[in-house]
Amino acid sequence: MDTLMPLLFVAAVIFILYMSAIRNPLRTCPRCKGAGTLPALIPGRFRPCPRCGRKGETRAWFGRPE
Ligand SMILES: [Zn+2]
Repeated sequence: MDTLMPLLFVAAVIFILYMSAIRNPLRTCPRCKGAGTLPALIPGRFRPCPRCGRKGETRAWFGRPE
């Protein structure tokens, strides 16, 4: 039965990662760092982040970087 334990361990780790991804489907936008805006060419002005739609967060499944 020793050969079954590593398989069970791997399955448990995958299950935990899967559940955390389901419970936390959003992560901080890597482009604007969650601010929702990006610095414009004019100093002091900002434009909405096109990647996250100004929400500051993007969908992340299994923590995969986009
Ligand atoms: Zn963004």
